[in-house]
Amino acid sequence: MLRIEALGKTYRTGDRALDGISLTVAPGEVVGLIGPSGAGKSTLIRCINRLVEPSAGEILLGGEAITAVATRHLPAVRRRIGMIFQEYALVERLTVMENVLSGRLGYVPFWRSFLRRFPQRDIDAAFALLDRVGLAAHVDKRADALSGGQRQRVGIARALAQEPELLLVDEPTASLDPKTSQQIMQLICEICAERALPAIVNIHDVALAQRFVSRIVGLHGGRVVYDGTPDGLSTTV
Ligand code: ADP
Ligand code: ADP
Repeated sequence: MLRIEALGKTYRTGDRALDGISLTVAPGEVVGLIGPSGAGKSTLIRCINRLVEPSAGEILLGGEAITAVATRHLPAVRRRIGMIFQEYALVERLTVMENVLSGRLGYVPFWRSFLRRFPQRDIDAAFALLDRVGLAAHVDKRADALSGGQRQRVGIARALAQEPELLLVDEPTASLDPKTSQQIMQLICEICAERALPAIVNIHDVALAQRFVSRIVGLHGGRVVYDGTPDGLSTTV
């Protein structure tokens, strides 16, 4: 469960990117975050994974405030948050299985054969995730041999391998064709429901969001201007 209370962010430049955002995301709930460029979507995501330090307010993950944690504890906070990226952020020279296990490790290893570091149960768990995202037949392929849709499936499995309490998803379909985009959004929403994972998906394709997510939050000028069902969304946001 994620709770955000009166979150504010003013950059050093004076740009007020977030202005009193309050939001609760329940287990299994997928929030589609929409809004025009400059609305504050990226800043909100970055405050939650603490790439950016908020100026005001509180972020609670599983009831624990993560807003004020010391820098040395940030890696531990980030391990609790699964990230899925627009450009997948895979390591091209590693296999699908290695990419997924690097999610469990929390960093990208540079030595070869790092798979040996993992107990069989971790490899079995990674295989189960890859099976769930439809890549059981591709575990030993290098990432650079995959299609865009397959890469994003690896990205999803890698995020899940760290057993996160929250998924943050940044424009997951921006590099994919429409049909693949639908499959990826459907997969993310199904998996969150199955695992009771809360998620925030930053998505500029409003129609795609409306079709798959359970709730839409619209930002404008750093404020929440819509929070409700996909059906209730007018075209003004
Ligand atoms: P979105 O993701 O919705 O496009 P952003 O969070 O990127 O919105 O931006 C919100 C506001 O904050 C904009 O006015 C933008 O110019 C400003 N902003 C974003 N990042 C920075 C930064 N690193 N330094 C200063 N201003 C920033
Ligand atoms: P942009 O959307 O402008 O490309 P990102 O939001 O992807 O920027 O973040 C910048 C970098 O920070 C990315 O390369 C990503 O790998 C890294 N990053 C973001 N969130 C996390 C996280 N929770 N843990 C580790 N690295 C992260």
